[in-house]
Amino acid sequence: MNLARQIEQYLPRHLLELVKDISGQAAKLGQRVYLVGGVVRDLLLGYPNYDLDLVVEGDAVKLAQKVAETSQAKLLAHHRFGTAKLRYENFTLDLATARKETYAKPGALPTVTPGTLKDDLIRRDFSINAMAMSLAANDYGELVDPHQGKNDLEHRLIRILHPKSFSDDATRILRAVRYEQRLGFELEAQTAQLLKQDIPMLDTISGDRIRHELELIFKEKQPEFVIKRLGELGVLPRISPFLKGDGWIAEKFDKARRLKKPVQLPSLYFCLLIYSFSENGIEQLLTRLNISAKLSRAMRDTLRLKTKLPLLDKPSLKPSEIYYLLREYEPVAIQANAIASESPRVHRYLQLFLTKLRYVRTSLDGEELKRLGISAGPEMGKVLQILHKAKLDGEVSTKSDEKKLALSLSLKLER
Ligand code: ATP
Repeated sequence: MNLARQIEQYLPRHLLELVKDISGQAAKLGQRVYLVGGVVRDLLLGYPNYDLDLVVEGDAVKLAQKVAETSQAKLLAHHRFGTAKLRYENFTLDLATARKETYAKPGALPTVTPGTLKDDLIRRDFSINAMAMSLAANDYGELVDPHQGKNDLEHRLIRILHPKSFSDDATRILRAVRYEQRLGFELEAQTAQLLKQDIPMLDTISGDRIRHELELIFKEKQPEFVIKRLGELGVLPRISPFLKGDGWIAEKFDKARRLKKPVQLPSLYFCLLIYSFSENGIEQLLTRLNISAKLSRAMRDTLRLKTKLPLLDKPSLKPSEIYYLLREYEPVAIQANAIASESPRVHRYLQLFLTKLRYVRTSLDGEELKRLGISAGPEMGKVLQILHKAKLDGEVSTKSDEKKLALSLSLKLER
């Protein structure tokens, strides 16, 4: 099959010219270039995807260097991996030397040697991601599909390329479900059976790699579908026995996405994911996924704040009281609790803190207080705190209100 006509319609003109130019330069070096992976899959499906991955039969770094010399692209080369990134103003292009991979043991990173396009395609995760399109002048647009990816696209199937695929690299278990849910496909029968059988192989995968796959899931339009399905298949408990993919998660993820100004959406999903965890459970998960210090703080804060919510479930709390109850928590943890809380009042208070109270500042600063005769040190600290509270509670609004209050406070403190 030839995709020349489709690609001409599909890619914006400047990208098309660029990949053709790269292919022309490759030919001069005696190399061949192919578009591979997600972009070919999405081209056949008619979905936009301008994340272009190119595979080079030859030396990708050498080719990228040549291209960078004749354009305004910034080059980022990894000689050891035979890969290069060309960064243009609004997009990037990834070039990789075609490679052959072997796995010394399950879960290990593969041993890599240069190879042919066919070698490069068979190392891939699923048939629908293992297609390429030639960019060479003599067979431009020709689809290379040794694993019947196009047929699987037509039958809406996610299929691994060989029976050891999941045990070689169990991150593919998470990837399979991600694509299945994104595309509304099904796992092909043998793939489904091997996936379930190889769930224990997730134990061979490092925390960083599992976390990275979860982060990719959280970039999907509706990650809750992926999480739910991972739960049904029995994948989640292998990562943590406390993880659930139930209706609660689905509802809260959906709410998180609908926020007008969501605070760091992927972190918010992580905080919601552990909302029903015990303290013990969360520590296990943080270690298992090697979660960063910042996100760990947010996830721990989520549970700490959850236990304190009853303090907020009182009528007519002053804004300053809300502020001092909440100021020690990460905003994303507060947001997670606002989404999770069943009490409309608590929800309102948490939102008030997030949207207003946390930004309230006094108009007077230390220097101005000094000019009013208040000396630096504990006295000034006290005055600033009282001014801040008064501002939060609407007792002062203008700078001159603050000045008056500061002066009367300093007189009182002097006595
Ligand atoms: P999309 O999420 O739309 O597929 P993408 O194609 O850029 O985006 P990546 O996760 O960046 O997806 O992976 C690029 C390609 O690398 C995939 O199409 C797949 O063929 C291959 N790949 C990625 N991870 C693995 C893996 N664990 N095992 C085998 N192949 C993989």
